[in-house]
Amino acid sequence: MTVRLVEPTRPSRRFHATATPMVFDLGLSENPFPPLPSVMSAVTSALAQANRYPEFLPEELPRVIADHLGVSPDDVVVGAGATGVAMQVMRALGDGELLTSTPTFDGYPIMAEMAGMPLVPVPLDSGGDQDLTAMRRAVNRRTGLVVLCRPHNPTGTVLDAAAVRSFLAAIPHRVPVLLDEAYVEFLDPADRLDIRALLHRHPNLLILRTFSKAYGLAGLRIGYCVGRGKLIERIRNQQLPFGTPTASIAAVRAAYAAGAELRDRVDSINRERIRLRTSLRACGIEVPDSHANFLYLPGPGVATALRRAGIKAKAYPDGSARITVGDPAAGHAVHAALVGLR
Ligand code: PMP
Repeated sequence: MTVRLVEPTRPSRRFHATATPMVFDLGLSENPFPPLPSVMSAVTSALAQANRYPEFLPEELPRVIADHLGVSPDDVVVGAGATGVAMQVMRALGDGELLTSTPTFDGYPIMAEMAGMPLVPVPLDSGGDQDLTAMRRAVNRRTGLVVLCRPHNPTGTVLDAAAVRSFLAAIPHRVPVLLDEAYVEFLDPADRLDIRALLHRHPNLLILRTFSKAYGLAGLRIGYCVGRGKLIERIRNQQLPFGTPTASIAAVRAAYAAGAELRDRVDSINRERIRLRTSLRACGIEVPDSHANFLYLPGPGVATALRRAGIKAKAYPDGSARITVGDPAAGHAVHAALVGLR
């Protein structure tokens, strides 16, 4: 499998209108399922108090998340999605370079610019994985933050757990490392990292997660970061007063309570991803082995073929595309649009 990358990802902040009406919107790696009825009802009840301000600084939501994870509430900072929390991280740390892979989640180059952190992009290796050797070599005294994604966006590939542990052991403690686990719930439990053990060993580590993906609550903007000591305290100091809506607490409590139902949905998204990847590989498209709710379809020509078929995807400069998976009807449309391309 090779991932052809002609140019690094450019942040796409503007919507480009196209002539073909869009039939499926697969551009933002969303969860195809609407919120569970129990989550809807919890959020609706909470909205009855929407005339009231939420907590000045969030205490309840960090506590609910910390209890679920088995960590101290002092180690959890919440924010407006993983994006909001990552922005807090950069504002707290922002006087150095941001070292990360390219391509990656579009938010990182955008936020680095906003935070005034020069971006140091390290190309993915020929297998579409983050190149940990090159990233380790690129760390120097100017490095202010290192970002790793596991699974990675856009390829969905998963760094080997032992390789992540050696990477962390090789990074000096003065350099914070943000391990972005936005898609962790799609991983087989055997592939997940023991974040408590890692955090214990590495005071410079921050784990970033979100309720936007597996929990299907992207519109509510709930994310969090887990870390330790002075580092997490600096990030908490960037907390926006009254910035955590009361409804988000109700949504998280209800989502945790519905763990088994959500697990079924994640399993079905995973099955659909495997089915679609197999059928696209049979068409000659070298789709990397994704472990998230999207697939990366290497170009050239893929993004254009999808657009012509009315499928909105995240497009890359070399003609590659990333599509959200989970909806079988959309998967069939993707297959139909690409069959015969190679
Ligand atoms: N990290 C990664 C790797 C992502 O792909 C995304 C969303 N596409 C985010 C963070 C941000 O997610 P959110 O702000 O919705 O929580």
